[in-house]
Amino acid sequence: MSWNEIRGHRHQEHLFRRAAQKDRLASTFLFVGPEGIGKRKFARQLARSLFCERYGEEELQSCDSCPSCQQVTAGTHPDLLELRKPNDKNSLPIGMFAGSDDYGPGLCHDIAIKPAAGGRRIAIIDDADFLSTESANSLLKTLEEPPPRSILILLGTSEQQQLPTILSRCQIVRFGPLPPTDLHEILAGLELEEGTPLEDLVPASSGSVQQALLLHPPEVFAFRTQLLQQLATLNPLEGDFLKSLLGFLGEKETEAALKRAKLRFIADLAIEFYGLLLQQTSGLNPDPPDSVSAQALAQARERWAAPTVQLASLIERTELMSSQIEMYLNSANLLGPWLADLSNLSHGRTLVPIEF
Ligand SMILES: [Zn+2]
Repeated sequence: MSWNEIRGHRHQEHLFRRAAQKDRLASTFLFVGPEGIGKRKFARQLARSLFCERYGEEELQSCDSCPSCQQVTAGTHPDLLELRKPNDKNSLPIGMFAGSDDYGPGLCHDIAIKPAAGGRRIAIIDDADFLSTESANSLLKTLEEPPPRSILILLGTSEQQQLPTILSRCQIVRFGPLPPTDLHEILAGLELEEGTPLEDLVPASSGSVQQALLLHPPEVFAFRTQLLQQLATLNPLEGDFLKSLLGFLGEKETEAALKRAKLRFIADLAIEFYGLLLQQTSGLNPDPPDSVSAQALAQARERWAAPTVQLASLIERTELMSSQIEMYLNSANLLGPWLADLSNLSHGRTLVPIEF
């Protein structure tokens, strides 16, 4: 693993390279960008380069063969702390930071221990979108006064998802979707089983490896087409579409993490669709990602007289649905009201506010 294998984030690499050359690396970072574009991989490569025994830190290179490089690759480096949200939890538990029977002494303790291999300690905290207020509070002092030479890297999808107390204490590094050529190369290198052809898959994947893998089975790709066509009817509730959505989720047999990923995919696709439609009706001329999307947008425009106001409400309602994914155990209770509201909003009806 070397920097050459990190695709699509050259600019961010240069930022870190310059800072390392001047010995001016910050201590706390928040990486933000869509899921499945390689932020975690980038953070691990940064750690590998800082730990590599063959190169000096200012060179920010990794040899891939020294014990340190191999330990980072194997996830066993004693000075690299990695944590992420457990699949069965809605947030990053406070025990991970402050210590508990389940999680040992906790990150705030572990990051302050003297580095085992010399140098420094590095922590990669994935799923920072799911930091609860109490977990964030337990982390604040460490973020404010990180142990000498330690580096903490939080990974999240957007700044809006972070608590202000976290945002104000981190240097923010923004990552964008992977360019199509990079995504194509990554997917071609994965030796995937037969499925949706890459020339169809890449444009539909929003520059995310994770989304491409989700869409790779032909039945999932076909579901995407169905969802876009249904949104274009302006009456998403029609034809018992809720049943199709639940069928796609595989409610009972799908593990919770995959189900949530599928729900986010549904929300993101709808937000992208309404967003493109809003731009088109506002006189802008955005490029739809692929022909399926272009066709659905054209259909919606034909059916819709003056949609600008409703479109903003449709996006807001879908963002609300997306933010509630972690709260609902039963997807029908999340998706049913959402579809009903979309149909109402699409026809210019106002919604009755629901108390939570
Ligand atoms: Zn090395």
